[in-house]
Amino acid sequence: MDQIRIDNLEVYAHHGVYPEENRKGQKFYVNAVLYTDTRKAGQQDDLELSTNYGEVCLFIQDYMTERVCKLLETVAEGLAEAILLQFPKIRKLDLEIRKPNAPIPLPFTSVSIKITRGWHKVFIAFGSNMGDRDTYIANALQSIAEHPLCRTEKVSSVLRTTPYGGQAEGEFLNGVLQIRTLFTPEELLEVLHELEAEAGRQRTVHWGSRTLDLDILFFDDLVMSTEILTIPHVDMQNRDFVLRPLCEIAPYFRHPVTNQTMQQMLENLTEHHVL
Ligand code: ATP
Ligand code: CA
Ligand code: CA
Repeated sequence: MDQIRIDNLEVYAHHGVYPEENRKGQKFYVNAVLYTDTRKAGQQDDLELSTNYGEVCLFIQDYMTERVCKLLETVAEGLAEAILLQFPKIRKLDLEIRKPNAPIPLPFTSVSIKITRGWHKVFIAFGSNMGDRDTYIANALQSIAEHPLCRTEKVSSVLRTTPYGGQAEGEFLNGVLQIRTLFTPEELLEVLHELEAEAGRQRTVHWGSRTLDLDILFFDDLVMSTEILTIPHVDMQNRDFVLRPLCEIAPYFRHPVTNQTMQQMLENLTEHHVL
């Protein structure tokens, strides 16, 4: 992706663990690499189509002088998030904050924190087969759409499906949504669990009836497996009620392990199973 780069922006601010640093302040230097698409702006010579680096510099200066943090980590984390929220064309950024006059009683040139943060493209499956199913789903979709760290991009139509796995009874409403988020996978899972809890979900029987189920299907092209999270979702290739909505909103998206498009995955499933 194209880059807009800011090198050694000097900001006088008061961050530090020591009261002396908070009182007197010191110089900080900021390096930022903003990942964005500059082609249209380049072709049309139009600043509106790009991100104004002057505005980004002033934004960084304001952010760093309007608050006092103990840690450079905190300044970097908050500033990266604020830039991504303020400037929508920036997809990702590398942010380095240097402190050349940090209170260290040894010779050194500077200490710094460098982080990379950005928007992640995520697909989430939703399902409900108990109680006021439409309302549970609508409330969850609204909470996600209104969350400051999430942007809803597409929502599939809602399918009516018979329960999967033989443990649940009522008919399911199922669908998939595509979002952008600044959350990590674990943080997003926590948010989804909170939304399930708000819908009064009780975890009793695995694959049993539920008021609301929210599963992470894909998170960028990430492949991971821990005690609490497996991405891509481990059983999606066998689920018509996941693949059909995915085909509606992202037919050409590719599974990062098998490299198959959603369309190919659905074709495989319908060929091999009688639905
Ligand atoms: P399935 O995952 O087969 O659809 P389920 O949705 O009924 O089954 P739950 O009881 O909702 O299963 O979830 C059990 C646990 O699965 C969650 O607490 C979570 O930690 C874990 N999990 C692992 N991978 C994922 C994922 N990609 N999305 C959501 N939860 C996941
Ligand atoms: Ca599920
Ligand atoms: Ca689940």
